[in-house]
Amino acid sequence: MLHELPVTSAAPTSGAPALALPLMEQFYTIQGEGYNTGRAAYFVRLGGCDVGCVWCDVKESWDVDAHPRVAVADIVTMATAHAGRNVVITGGEPLMHNLRPLTTALQTAGCQTWIETSGAYPLSGQWDWICVSPKKFKAPLPEVLAAAHELKIIIFNKSDFAWAEQHAAQVSPTCRLYLQPEWSKAPQMMPLIVDYVKENPKWQVSLQTHKFLDIP
Ligand code: SF4
Repeated sequence: MLHELPVTSAAPTSGAPALALPLMEQFYTIQGEGYNTGRAAYFVRLGGCDVGCVWCDVKESWDVDAHPRVAVADIVTMATAHAGRNVVITGGEPLMHNLRPLTTALQTAGCQTWIETSGAYPLSGQWDWICVSPKKFKAPLPEVLAAAHELKIIIFNKSDFAWAEQHAAQVSPTCRLYLQPEWSKAPQMMPLIVDYVKENPKWQVSLQTHKFLDIP
């Protein structure tokens, strides 16, 4: 489902507003997890991540220089070539880049801007939905947690429930709280998550339904 990417020779973007971004892939699909599960969305996966999660399933995103820099205007053109107007910016860690130009252009084009971030870098851009999924390997910034609409904790082992509560204490009262089993650990962790959510109903279960559906 990849699109042909117009490549630009623009300089790297960290720091200054990014008019071109390292684009690993983009595709139109169904959001498979979290609050917006089941909704059509265009995914823009940006290259670059130094968080280093051992179970990362997109390690090929880590090297920012391995991906072509694509002009913001071209990303918007491709995102709006479909009927849907929800755009998920993900990575990699997308907040390693200044996302103000991209989100401004997407919103001007009538798109909802959603982000999936570890929260490890300062927030940039204008967002209609912020999903923060903290990682143990690089702590989220308090200001990003405070801005989250959705907190998604990946449960890899039993100790992650206490870790989830530590982060739930740092988000706003209206933030939606999700526990999601790490894919390879789901058989072991799912029963624990079910019991935990029944005892602590401020949390909801999130599943990677796109993996069950075999869609991107
Ligand atoms: S933050 Fe995301 S992209 Fe980066 S290592 Fe962790 S899971 Fe992978």
